[in-house]
Amino acid sequence: MKANARAVVIGGGVVGVSTLYHLAKKGWSDVVLLERKELTSGSTWHAAGLLPLFNMSYSVGQIHKYSVKFYQELQEETGMNVGFTQCSNIRLARTKDRWDEYMYYAGIAETIGIPVNILTPEQVKEIWPLCETDGLLGAIQHPDDGYIQPADLTQALAKGARDLGATIYRNTAVTAIAQGDDGTWTVTTDKGEIACEHVISCTGNFARRTGAMVGLDVPVIPVEHQYIVTEPHPAIVARKKEGLPEMGVLRESDSSWYMREENGGLLLGPYEVGAPCCYVDGPSEDSEYELFQEDLERLMPYVETAIERVPAFGEVGIKKIYNGAIAYTPDGSPIIGPAPGLKNFWLNEGHSFGVTAAGGAGWQLAEWIVEGEPSIDMMGVDPRRFGPYATEGYLREKNEEAYANVFTVHYPDEERSAARPLKTTPSYDRMKALGAVFGSVYGWERPNWFAPEGYAVPESELGVGADVLLKHNHAPALADGRVVEKWSFRRSNYFEHVGNEVRNVHENVGLLDMSAFAKIEVSGPGARGWLDNILANRIPKKRGRVALCHLLTKNGGVRSEFTVYEWKPGRFYLVSAGAYEAHDHDVLFKLLPDDGSVTLRPITQQYGVFVLAGPRSRDVLRRLTRTELSNAAFPWLSGREISVGRASAHALRVNFVGELGWELHHPIEQQNLIFDLIMEAGAEFGIRPFGIRAMTSMAIEKSYRLIPRELSIEYTAWESGLDRFVHPDKGNFIGREALLKQRDAGLGWNYVTLEIGGVSDADARGNEAIYRAGELVGRATHGGYGWRVGKSLALAMVRPEFAAEGTELEIRILGELHPAKVIGESPFDPENAALRTDG
Ligand SMILES: Cc1cc2nc3c(=O)[nH]c(=O)nc-3n(C[C@H](O)[C@H](O)[C@H](O)COP(=O)(O)OP(=O)(O)OC[C@H]3O[C@@H](n4cnc5c(N)ncnc54)[C@H](O)[C@@H]3O)c2cc1C
Repeated sequence: MKANARAVVIGGGVVGVSTLYHLAKKGWSDVVLLERKELTSGSTWHAAGLLPLFNMSYSVGQIHKYSVKFYQELQEETGMNVGFTQCSNIRLARTKDRWDEYMYYAGIAETIGIPVNILTPEQVKEIWPLCETDGLLGAIQHPDDGYIQPADLTQALAKGARDLGATIYRNTAVTAIAQGDDGTWTVTTDKGEIACEHVISCTGNFARRTGAMVGLDVPVIPVEHQYIVTEPHPAIVARKKEGLPEMGVLRESDSSWYMREENGGLLLGPYEVGAPCCYVDGPSEDSEYELFQEDLERLMPYVETAIERVPAFGEVGIKKIYNGAIAYTPDGSPIIGPAPGLKNFWLNEGHSFGVTAAGGAGWQLAEWIVEGEPSIDMMGVDPRRFGPYATEGYLREKNEEAYANVFTVHYPDEERSAARPLKTTPSYDRMKALGAVFGSVYGWERPNWFAPEGYAVPESELGVGADVLLKHNHAPALADGRVVEKWSFRRSNYFEHVGNEVRNVHENVGLLDMSAFAKIEVSGPGARGWLDNILANRIPKKRGRVALCHLLTKNGGVRSEFTVYEWKPGRFYLVSAGAYEAHDHDVLFKLLPDDGSVTLRPITQQYGVFVLAGPRSRDVLRRLTRTELSNAAFPWLSGREISVGRASAHALRVNFVGELGWELHHPIEQQNLIFDLIMEAGAEFGIRPFGIRAMTSMAIEKSYRLIPRELSIEYTAWESGLDRFVHPDKGNFIGREALLKQRDAGLGWNYVTLEIGGVSDADARGNEAIYRAGELVGRATHGGYGWRVGKSLALAMVRPEFAAEGTELEIRILGELHPAKVIGESPFDPENAALRTDG
């Protein structure tokens, strides 16, 4: 066995072999793959081989798109048949919400270049004559989609990799992994050791065990997944004899199953409620080509709905049931990217559609490893979207939930209920008593909006039981039985209540809990110089000034956004998005200089954050502090430590809603005290709490940018319109050279704000296609109703020639075209007068 390699890939399933292939393709021929048994002997050999392009995630959609194209090219390149049957994929819709989901998805597909056809029930019948079409509203079809032979695909990838110089060792188990002081990894196997620069873990159902070798808690636990293969059916055999085309993959989303032809018979794969987690402690040492005992009882409800839809399925006997392990993560998307806390250790794990994703996942990970950055926005699959809260108990609940929800309607406002509440701030109960309807981000409970006392959505409007056959996806009832929220792609029951919250913030004053913000302190003699050297904005020279600073990629894209505030001499307090705590902090840790001159101290849990915003916020705060709050003494974009009654807080005069206000960063143990003081002092000024949805509506009216929407590695800082925050003349920072080059070469995109016409009940949400005279010219990145301006708005990236104010464009929202006019940035208060209000 070789003693050295540039990179070692662990795991010879389809994902590992694709990663190996793509590293070699990028020119790294000195790469090695280690597989403990035979290639494909984990989950890959028994996969049904479907290649569904459908995915609601922008990241995963692009990964799947690449795979489907690449697998066909691979066949030509290697001369090995990968068994790709391009027979199309039809997804049926029985309900209006499902149709909305498909229409929303069609926008994502169009903007990433995946063709989607819309079919009537009659057209479904033509393509799939064995399918009954009763009760169908229609369907969408992916013509490029189909299925593949997973083992043949893996072997072709292996041949391609070997042809490019890569080495594969089968029957070689990795038993230990350690990193030396010089950064070199030593991978120990039962056949010897290999020293390497990079390690890539692609170990499927063993992911947690591999992670444990390097002290990582990988948020992957598999779930049992079954499919049934029938004996041949005479009608299908006859079709084959007549030379008729295969009927394609059929998906009855509302009953949670897929079906396709298999050797003259049918293959049915349901995603059952109650499918249990498996291999919680990892598979056994000798696990190989392993299947579990089938559970026909769990399958029966799905079999029944399948027979109703395709009676032929019930007319033939069952040939075999496969019950195997399918890796899952809490949100159902894979984990592709750098491992948190470890240099040059990479994860390509947690694949539940691994055959489909392997090509694109290998491609992007190889780019990341070899070139330092991927080229598509990978935030949706980044391993660091989860934090240390994702322990085994959490994963068991969440992963079973993710599996059971594969086919449910994926509402943009859904807040899944498993494993909640997990992380609560001290004011949780107080917010709840005031009617908070919570959402969850990075394990934290955060008020999304506030329901009036006793409020309930009438049962007749909930539609529970009437829409889907086997798995509902509705907001759960509260402890007292009330359901207060209806999830939807359209304006839903909470719309007007959110409007009331905005109105109160705009006219009086509101209080928002943003304690989930990620927080870290940067200190040490080199702190200022280091921050200045990595961030694109100038670090304020004067202590107490607050600046918004972006950490860019070397290509000039945006990786993270930080609020930077020197809170004590030489000590900087950095705040970033709560959802990306692990990501942002890991990126910072990995950029630290080796000389020990800079120290990082994560302090998210030590500080809570209340946003006090609205024209009366100064009046409220004045009741609680002796600190002078006038503009002269406490200007916009500054901060200082103040007393709040007998408590204390760092008050930062910034906020994300565009009103006069302060963020109060306070010791977490004083949160309830501060809450009570503020609510009491604010009573005479009409204070009311508000939630994330009101905040989002107000942020859109200010054209404020968010990661990973209009700020992303796919758009440069210039393209995202961050000119005010980027200063190439200040000296070096990450991404500077690329930005200077682009300034000469011209931009590929421009960030714009759009006013949408003709909207009655569905605003843009992001991912909608934007056209000029029928031609696709951009994509929405965010959208919603702006209560203060009384307009339906969208934020978008469009081609520069269509970015001028006044340009008339069109946007397709849930299948309908609407006029979309480019308007000036920040339609609410473009001069920032509210933020600067004196008094
Ligand atoms: C019934 C069923 C049907 C499915 N159908 C589909 C489908 O239609 N379409 C689709 O896209 N996906 C499907 N899947 C999912 C798909 O099978 C997986 O996502 C995919 O196979 C994952 O590939 P992988 O390479 O990540 O993992 P695996 O194939 O499990 O490979 C991991 C490999 O790592 C090796 N390994 C682990 N630890 C070590 C170690 N310490 N040293 C060396 N080697 C090690 C293992 O031996 C194993 O071979 C299905 C899954 C099931 C269960």
